[in-house]
Amino acid sequence: MASQWVDVRDLQFLLHEVFRIGDELLGKGPFADHDADMVNMVLDQAAKFTENDIAPSYPDEVHRQPVEAVFKDGKVSVPEAYHRLWQLYAEGGWLSVSDSPDVGGQGFPAIIAAAVSQMFLAGNQAFLMYPGLTHGAARLVEDFFQHPLRDLILEKMYNGAWTGTMCLTEPGAGSDVGALKTSARKNPDGTYSITGTKCFISAGDHNLTENIIHPVLARIEGDPPGTKGISIFVVPKIRINPDGSLGEPNDVNTGGIESKMGIHGNATCTLNFGENGKCIGWLMGEEREGMKVMFHMMNEERQGVGTMGVALSTAAYLHALSYAKERVQGVNVMQMRDPDAKACPIIQHPDIRRMLLKMKSITEAIKALALYCYYAMDRLRVAETDAEKDKWQGMIEMLTPIVKAYCTDMGDVVTSLAVQTYGGYGYCREYPVEQLMRDNRINGIYEGTNGIQALDLLGRKLGMKKGLYFMTLLGETQAEIAKAKGNEALKAEAETVEKALNACAGAAMQFSKLMRSNPFVPLIAAMDYLHCLSESLCGWFHLWMANTATEKLAANPSETDKAFYTGKIEGAKFYINRTTALVPAKCDVLVQDEISCIRIPDEAFAV
Ligand SMILES: Cc1cc2nc3c(=O)[nH]c(=O)nc-3n(C[C@H](O)[C@H](O)[C@H](O)COP(=O)(O)OP(=O)(O)OC[C@H]3O[C@@H](n4cnc5c(N)ncnc54)[C@H](O)[C@@H]3O)c2cc1C
Repeated sequence: MASQWVDVRDLQFLLHEVFRIGDELLGKGPFADHDADMVNMVLDQAAKFTENDIAPSYPDEVHRQPVEAVFKDGKVSVPEAYHRLWQLYAEGGWLSVSDSPDVGGQGFPAIIAAAVSQMFLAGNQAFLMYPGLTHGAARLVEDFFQHPLRDLILEKMYNGAWTGTMCLTEPGAGSDVGALKTSARKNPDGTYSITGTKCFISAGDHNLTENIIHPVLARIEGDPPGTKGISIFVVPKIRINPDGSLGEPNDVNTGGIESKMGIHGNATCTLNFGENGKCIGWLMGEEREGMKVMFHMMNEERQGVGTMGVALSTAAYLHALSYAKERVQGVNVMQMRDPDAKACPIIQHPDIRRMLLKMKSITEAIKALALYCYYAMDRLRVAETDAEKDKWQGMIEMLTPIVKAYCTDMGDVVTSLAVQTYGGYGYCREYPVEQLMRDNRINGIYEGTNGIQALDLLGRKLGMKKGLYFMTLLGETQAEIAKAKGNEALKAEAETVEKALNACAGAAMQFSKLMRSNPFVPLIAAMDYLHCLSESLCGWFHLWMANTATEKLAANPSETDKAFYTGKIEGAKFYINRTTALVPAKCDVLVQDEISCIRIPDEAFAV
């Protein structure tokens, strides 16, 4: 049964019935020791932890006031409830669900860790960013840090004794990371002295743990400008002695924290490195290879942010659904002329049903899209041939900007529809949907804005390997389209999805020509094109889910399952007929020479 925060049945459907991880992943390669029962046990535990501990930790229970991280006397404190939660999180082994047992992890496929994350994030994104960043930083240390202290640092991060961050952004270097000014000077002992200011650093300082490991992008003095001259350093908040004990503070000082629209419990810090000339860091990877190291993690981090959009959409939809069943207001439209008609629950009103099915069908589509990207990462790990590996690597490259941007943009749509479903109460702190809406807003901004993702898709990914990766992705959709075409009940939808994908392929070819003659057309179209391709791919995922549901319904399932599978088919029809169907018309518009936003003089935007 779904609660208002998580829907375990839906996750099980995707994992076991749609992506059939039992056949494709479990029992193979690094997952040789894992089976479906273990997966279901982890999902159930994660659902309970979300319900019982994570979700109640966010708002003040009496007034639903936001709980905030606080900056006082140069120090940051997290909301009180986070201390116990952090302990439970670390003790439960949740920091390393899909990491190798060699580093204390549970070794599950990445798709399982992502499903678990979806639940946790739905309960409290602000808190989850502490372990999320810790995991990301630990993965960098694991893969790139060659130092006698590597294993100790890893152990402390994976067991929750220390946390981690990502320090890229500076006041003058946001989207353009290459403009950074933080510098590093090599010391005779091989360490580097770091000097500079980083801003917007999530979980940058706090009192959850005794130490924080900061991966910091900086330029070694004398290295070239731009991204080519960037290196990356491990900079601890507190210095670590050779025997692993903690030493002096490392001259990393918190300048302040941001007052934000959402994710209040997560401290977004300005960090000053080396104000007193005493900040020491160790090189990670090779000199001037900082961007290469960061890019290694980028796909995973961007998929993680996409997962945030999915998580908050899920919680918003489930809350709105529950409210719509309870809230009584107005009469059923079929009884409008009956003066004695009783007021009905708002779920009976057509416009509320439209919003609910829109939320459901978007949420289920982006859930499938985001999980599939992790599935591709797992398929890459179990692949046996180079061709197979290249195929799955290509799928990851293509899908990453789509997952990051579309899932988070749709998070805005779904959380806003949830507020609308509640009416005036949705706008008030008494109910949680306004918080979900505010929290999701950051997901389209950090980890590379969605505009930058669109440029990545159009400018880099579509043409990768001369378009081979794009064609492979399109080819992958064919089997489910063909299956749906063979089913009278889904034939029209299958044709719609096929037309939409063809329109995206056609537009991509036109963009590639226009890039040489009139590049503004594709550059202006990039974001809308990312949405068109996402809506076509989500149409494919809906067909896949509807095909699966059709097969299951034929096997005469229980009444509950019958309702579940029927919901899948209706959701697929609604999404494909209302959203995917519009893609060909939108693509026609996008390739046209409409560049008024370039032509308009700056002073004509407002006079
Ligand atoms: C709450 C929060 C948490 C954060 N956490 C972290 C963190 O942990 N670590 C970290 O390093 N950073 C973090 N950031 C920073 C975040 O990644 C940046 O805000 C983001 O990359 C955008 O940079 P900017 O704010 O300087 O905006 P700008 O780069 O100034 O962008 C402003 C607008 O211009 C657009 N734009 C910029 N350049 C181009 C271009 N070439 N083409 C088209 N459009 C362009 C952008 O898409 C955006 O819409 C966080 C930010 C916030 C608000």
